[in-house]
Amino acid sequence: MATLDSLKEALKQKAKATASSPKQPLSDTQYSAGFDILVRGSGWMTYQGFIIPQLSQLLAPLFNSRIHISALEIGTGPKSLLGYLPGRLRRKVRKYTAFEPNGLFATRLEEWLCSTSETESPLPCLENPPNIHPIPFVLPYIIGSGTSTGTRENDEKYDIILFCHSMYGMKPKHRFIERALEMLVEWPQGGMVAVFHRDGALHLDGLACHRTASFPTGVVSVANDDEVLDCFAPFIAGFIMQDVDVDKAIRVDWRKVCRALGRREKDQPGQLLFSSPNVMAAFTQHATTLPELMAQVPSVKGDKTVKNREARLHRPASIIRPTEVRHVQQCIRWALKHGVGLAVVGGGHSGHCLWPNVVSVDMGAFDQVHILTAGDGGDSGSDSGSLVVAEAGCKTGDIVRKTMAAGVTVPLGARPSVGAGLWLQGGIGHLARLHGLACDAIVGAVMVSVDSSQVLCIGCVPSQHRPAGAVRPENESDLLWAMKGAGTNFGIVISVTFKSYAAPTYLTRNWVVPLSDNLEARLRLSDFDKLIARKLHWNCSADAYLYWEAGQLYLGVTMFESSATRFTSVTPTPTPVDAIWGPQDDFKAVDGVSLFETEMYVSRMHGGHGGGKTSSFKRCLFLKRIGEANVADRLVAAVETRPSPLCYLHLLQGGGAVGDVAADATAFGCRDWDFACVITGVWPRDQDGTEAARSAVQWVYNVTGDLLSLCSGAYGADLGPDPRDAALAAKAFGPNRPRLARLKHRLDPGNVLAYACPLPKAPMEQKLIILVTGKSCAGKDYCADVWVSVFIRCTHKSLTARAVSISDAIKREYAAATGADLSRLLWDRAYKEQHRPALTTFFQGQARQRPRLPEEHFLNVVYGAVDVDVLLITGMRDEAPVAALSHLVPDSRLLEVQVQASERTRRIRRGCYGGDSDGDDNKDSNNSGSNLTALNYRPSLIFDNNTTGNEAAKRFTEHSLLPFVNEDLQRLANMVRQLPDFPRPGIEFRHVLGISQQPGGLALCTSLLQTHFTGDWAKVNAVACCEVGGFVYASALALRVDVPLVPIREAGKLPPPTVSVIKPLSHISSLASNNSKEKRIEMEREVVPRGASVVVVDDVLSTGETLCAVLQLLDEAGIGTEDVSIMVVAEFPVHRGRELLRQRGFGRINIQSLLVFGGA
Ligand SMILES: Cc1cc2nc3c(=O)[nH]c(=O)nc-3n(C[C@H](O)[C@H](O)[C@H](O)COP(=O)(O)OP(=O)(O)OC[C@H]3O[C@@H](n4cnc5c(N)ncnc54)[C@H](O)[C@@H]3O)c2cc1C
Repeated sequence: MATLDSLKEALKQKAKATASSPKQPLSDTQYSAGFDILVRGSGWMTYQGFIIPQLSQLLAPLFNSRIHISALEIGTGPKSLLGYLPGRLRRKVRKYTAFEPNGLFATRLEEWLCSTSETESPLPCLENPPNIHPIPFVLPYIIGSGTSTGTRENDEKYDIILFCHSMYGMKPKHRFIERALEMLVEWPQGGMVAVFHRDGALHLDGLACHRTASFPTGVVSVANDDEVLDCFAPFIAGFIMQDVDVDKAIRVDWRKVCRALGRREKDQPGQLLFSSPNVMAAFTQHATTLPELMAQVPSVKGDKTVKNREARLHRPASIIRPTEVRHVQQCIRWALKHGVGLAVVGGGHSGHCLWPNVVSVDMGAFDQVHILTAGDGGDSGSDSGSLVVAEAGCKTGDIVRKTMAAGVTVPLGARPSVGAGLWLQGGIGHLARLHGLACDAIVGAVMVSVDSSQVLCIGCVPSQHRPAGAVRPENESDLLWAMKGAGTNFGIVISVTFKSYAAPTYLTRNWVVPLSDNLEARLRLSDFDKLIARKLHWNCSADAYLYWEAGQLYLGVTMFESSATRFTSVTPTPTPVDAIWGPQDDFKAVDGVSLFETEMYVSRMHGGHGGGKTSSFKRCLFLKRIGEANVADRLVAAVETRPSPLCYLHLLQGGGAVGDVAADATAFGCRDWDFACVITGVWPRDQDGTEAARSAVQWVYNVTGDLLSLCSGAYGADLGPDPRDAALAAKAFGPNRPRLARLKHRLDPGNVLAYACPLPKAPMEQKLIILVTGKSCAGKDYCADVWVSVFIRCTHKSLTARAVSISDAIKREYAAATGADLSRLLWDRAYKEQHRPALTTFFQGQARQRPRLPEEHFLNVVYGAVDVDVLLITGMRDEAPVAALSHLVPDSRLLEVQVQASERTRRIRRGCYGGDSDGDDNKDSNNSGSNLTALNYRPSLIFDNNTTGNEAAKRFTEHSLLPFVNEDLQRLANMVRQLPDFPRPGIEFRHVLGISQQPGGLALCTSLLQTHFTGDWAKVNAVACCEVGGFVYASALALRVDVPLVPIREAGKLPPPTVSVIKPLSHISSLASNNSKEKRIEMEREVVPRGASVVVVDDVLSTGETLCAVLQLLDEAGIGTEDVSIMVVAEFPVHRGRELLRQRGFGRINIQSLLVFGGA
């Protein structure tokens, strides 16, 4: 399929060749008409499938970390892209500016943003009207006196700046990005410039991006209609002709060009299709820090040619070539410091070793192979007794050659130029049936952590090959496990230790069988599978090739027999094949190095490797029983649909030692297969980047799609972010996906290796944030440390936990402003006491200037601990912190645990410490009441810390805190179905009531409500609930705890006497309904005696309006707030329901929610 870029070139060429008239730019109306055609139909799919999800994913952390967002969009078109983000992100945008030079678009954009129709405005929380400049965004030095864009003059700053398909006319592009970077808010950092660009390449020299992604499958469809093409073609070409007659004539020609290049598909009659690949690149203020790295580490001068065609098309920000381990560490430190990803070049055979605008680390200088004979390196576990240490820049050929000279070998792959990516991701070769995969031979590795930048020694690394300062990681066994099959994802590998085997010699024999038709093809494949391959001993393997040549379909078979002793006989012993197909066409006795040249696709097929000047694209699936009709038929059909005569299927035999390893014993995971089927798209190298290349790649994906349902797994090597890889990635790694996901999350929390084989995302389990509050010397830090230790040791779940003091943030700022010694401020009590008055004054001054300071500090602490499951924060000063802060971390559960100790205990502790503080700065805290009555709100939990020792604190964790990380809560959360755009676009509806429709859902939910209640059910007199959601859970719970149910209904539905109050509509009802905004609710007057203890149960807490009305009603009925508790199934903190309850005087009521959800 021709790309829009090639269409543009062809249209321009046509105009150049045929028209003499000068060109003129399109009018706003002409441009608008062309644009509308572009984004209509399948063009919109690019927005839905790529742009909007990528943008949402990219911006969510930034938006969640800010209270308000200011946005600048450049070249918006008629609608703001931000208007398509999920509702909770859109509502954060408070300031919006746009540059849109097309006057029509600018007007339409303004109307759209200011719409006051029934549907919510796309950016509903703007504090001022949108500021839309109907002019282009230009660089300051271009701004003439009369064409000011205002960009320099008022120096506006933004959190996000967006270029969506608007960089085409901007030259040089990197200058525009640099200008935009200057316009990002300087503090807090983290603002972003995001660019979406059509047609692949986006060369932004010298800038390192924070993230990049591509969407090669974008397609634009255009109606094959004169009128439509007459609008579309000038839009793509970018001009019309001044002379009316010439213009008319060129449009006729342009229609022909469109029709010649546009692809027609049966399922889209009347449409012309053009490929429209898209890329995204996002930059932060750190984008210009490349010189910092280049000053420390050597780089590759000029262009580096890698083997892979796809990678060659990517222009990296730079290719760094470390020559020492510390250089690799410097690369990682730089990447971590600036929040950017890195790619790594091994043998350069994958499409992921170079990425546009990303720094690549070329390991080529680490090219040594060391062979350690028995005794040099301890127990090797190999049959030769020798170990082989191969550095990460070695190629397969280097290792095979060097080891062979020492009489040993390592099972690797079939091509000599392939590098570390092979053994780190699997490694299927001719010795696999005898010795296993290449990764199975790994016994140790040296790796630089992408989390800490430490050099790690994993497993068996002979002492002479351990770099100075290398440490053994805590999770060494996990890492060694991961290295065997997913080793490109967790760190930059410096070297690998292999066990080795005696170097064999090989006898290779080839058969080439012409196939007269599909039936014969199927029969021959069946014979090959059942009568030949399955009968072979483990030291033999048989590879098959299905290919066409000169109009004839062939089955090629190579049999490899390995032997530790030399093959001497001139005539090989007969094989089962001889009886079926006759003697082989040729045979050879070769060593491991010469073996590379005997491969059938190198030596025989297609004139020997397509004449040598070809490019290829491969994907690999694992198949069983290839001789069965259903599999064989599909294989034969697959080669029949090849788009180029050079495409073929290669079937490499597995089984034997490969299948002997348990699927979960190594990360590789896919073990149960007879053949690895490599679907190989090949085209002449001089057709790289053309339609021929694209068709071959698409053929590979079509075939994999067709075979997917039959396969027992997919090879993870070289899968990437291409959406067409997603289905394959889901089949890679067998049962190991969840473990790998968790490891990736732990070991590469910053996603430094963002471009390695994509592992599944760890299911986003909720973080638990515990605010540890209380008076000075109550023992908050001590308790927090004990609780952390219990979480970490928790046996039923592997958890990470950390305690952080929020006051450290202000100490840091104070130290930076005054020159005080930060480490002494943090750790030296006397020094801190000396600075305390100045520190307090500094804090008060900062708080006056930055009213949102507490929120900023809170968010800094939370985002500084993204890697932990449980975060404990000490040193909070805020009153009712859960109500005040939970909306800032809507995806996390926030609890406040107040540590209490008597005055006497605290005095003693103060004495023990020899000072008057236990180490926090919370002396003046508002929540310093010695008991609950002194507080005008209620903490989530209270811990009585009067006893000495840590036993009580441990028991408290087990009894009161661990239930929040219980699997049952996760199970309950998984039962809540999510529906996008319901009841309105932009709302992500969570069907909390739907829990009751799931098998066991109601029982699980009521049991959790019962056990999570922090009060005493024996003292509860009634369970109250308001229709409708509350009824379902409250009645089941009331039955379970044997307490009467008090239903609250709409006025008029209950028998008198009743009490009633007005209730506004709930959040979702108000979105869904056009009815009046409020109604009355009531309950029977005498049904609960005055002073009774009541638990109110509801399905959802969002805005809190319903619960406020219920509490008012209970109050009317004589039930005081001190006798009421609230339990809800799900809470949506973004709506700040707790805060509303507090403002309405119900802050002292205990509110517990089983689940917490971000979103609406
Ligand atoms: C012609 C050809 C023949 C092949 N033959 C076989 C075969 O016989 N058997 C088989 O199993 N596979 C085979 N493959 C697939 C091959 O294993 C993968 O393409 C593999 O990823 C290539 O590794 P590389 O180092 O050459 O490529 P690269 O593109 O340099 O690296 C591949 C991946 O590994 C990562 N990586 C490389 N070095 C490191 C490091 N030191 N630390 C961390 N990550 C690193 C890269 O970032 C990249 O993501 C073949 C591929 C081709 C193109």
